[in-house]
Amino acid sequence: MGAAETAVDVVVIGAGFAGLVAARELGRAGHEVLVIEARDRVGGRTWTDRRLGHDLELGGTWVHWVQPHTWAEMTRYGREIVRSPAVEEAYWLGAGDEPRRGGLEDFMALIEDGQQRIVDDVRDAIPRGVDPTTGAIRSLDALSIQDRFDEIEMSDEARSANESVWVGHVNAPLDQVGLSSALRWTAATGGHWQLMHEASATYRVVGGMSAWTARIAEDVPGGIRLNTLVTAVSEEDGLAVVETEGGERITARRVISTLPVNAISGIRFDPPLPEAWHRASSETVASQGTKVWVKVRGSIPRFFAYASQRHPISVLKSEYPGTDPDGSEHTVLVGFGPDHTRVDVTDLAAVQAAVDALRPGLEVLEATAHDWMKDPLSRNTWMTHRPGQLTRDLRDLQEPSGLVHFATTDNANLWGGFIDGAIESGLREARRVGDSLTAARTER
Ligand SMILES: Cc1cc2nc3c(=O)[nH]c(=O)nc-3n(C[C@H](O)[C@H](O)[C@H](O)COP(=O)(O)OP(=O)(O)OC[C@H]3O[C@@H](n4cnc5c(N)ncnc54)[C@H](O)[C@@H]3O)c2cc1C
Repeated sequence: MGAAETAVDVVVIGAGFAGLVAARELGRAGHEVLVIEARDRVGGRTWTDRRLGHDLELGGTWVHWVQPHTWAEMTRYGREIVRSPAVEEAYWLGAGDEPRRGGLEDFMALIEDGQQRIVDDVRDAIPRGVDPTTGAIRSLDALSIQDRFDEIEMSDEARSANESVWVGHVNAPLDQVGLSSALRWTAATGGHWQLMHEASATYRVVGGMSAWTARIAEDVPGGIRLNTLVTAVSEEDGLAVVETEGGERITARRVISTLPVNAISGIRFDPPLPEAWHRASSETVASQGTKVWVKVRGSIPRFFAYASQRHPISVLKSEYPGTDPDGSEHTVLVGFGPDHTRVDVTDLAAVQAAVDALRPGLEVLEATAHDWMKDPLSRNTWMTHRPGQLTRDLRDLQEPSGLVHFATTDNANLWGGFIDGAIESGLREARRVGDSLTAARTER
């Protein structure tokens, strides 16, 4: 080994939830672990940042007690939840895209039939949420969410509303997203779409995601090397060799990659990645949308608004009331759209037009976002599969390849795409790597 080399038991690439949890578990089991993270912070696709006068979650935000891996970590770190504001008004589009206003119960009555029929066969499709590739899903996986909507008779008004609700869930045009996402997440909530909605967008973590991931990072023995981009992983003399952009070589007995499917091509693997990884990363998963934060003038009734999947912002809701230093009041809204290229937060006139389309009468003051799709370290928001990808690839993506293991929410069973899935995958691969290191020691 050359002088510039470091040797450890396990290198974990990436300090998002999957990497932090995997490294903590392995470290606590007595293995020497080094976490290498390209960003200047931990947390990956969760990130709390001070913007528009508030601590905003630019990535993952909402958690729920029906997400078992998330909730175990919440308990472990003493995290509390706070409810995002309950709404007083609902907005949606009527005939000719005319904005309509009503109460929560009016909107729920409008979408109820469509939401139920999208997932009516969930019990047959995925009888056990923890096993999302077993059941009738095998024959349904070729369908997109749009295919399913197109089979259902409904008014234009109900269609726009129902479709935007699903854009809010899957962050992409519905014809590009597998029906599998709707079915697997509803299976994770026992078949109840209302609970699935609550689980995915209701309760925030008090103190923010970044404070939570910083706390997990404190429990990673050996620490975390930030600002270090991994460029290559190869194998030499029965060891993995991890190379960084700075020219460092780190040898390890095992490597855990936590890179999302869409970003894994940023690392050169030799031997090359297994076929499933190669195929999925060249195809990319379906997520391609945006999450934007918008500050508007005044204190306004708490609302949510749904446009259609044709609109740059399909879903908008009030999240934080606030007061500026000069005493004037404002409200910060959070919005979601299916295509990240269609909302430019630096163009306030465009943001104003996008807001006007679904919630008229507001004055946009500022807007901000992080473009996770352009970010080379993610190229992905929250993972949703394209039609066919779930049953074709999931099992293969979970398998180690030589000395390299893969932990990412993108290959989780239960809440794939969510924070819960990241934690599940981190726990799974920590166990497998620990077992294989112990077995190798026993053999010697
Ligand atoms: C806008 C948005 C909203 C979301 N909303 C929710 C929500 O409300 N609830 C929910 O549960 N989930 C939500 N999610 C999803 C959730 O944030 C992710 O599923 C989860 O954080 C993924 O964790 P991970 O560890 O699998 O991946 P990541 O967090 O992506 O971690 C991978 C890490 O690897 C690092 N990395 C990448 N390439 C390299 C390299 N070459 N060298 C070194 N390091 C590298 C990255 O910087 C990153 O830190 C949302 C995500 C986004 C983007």
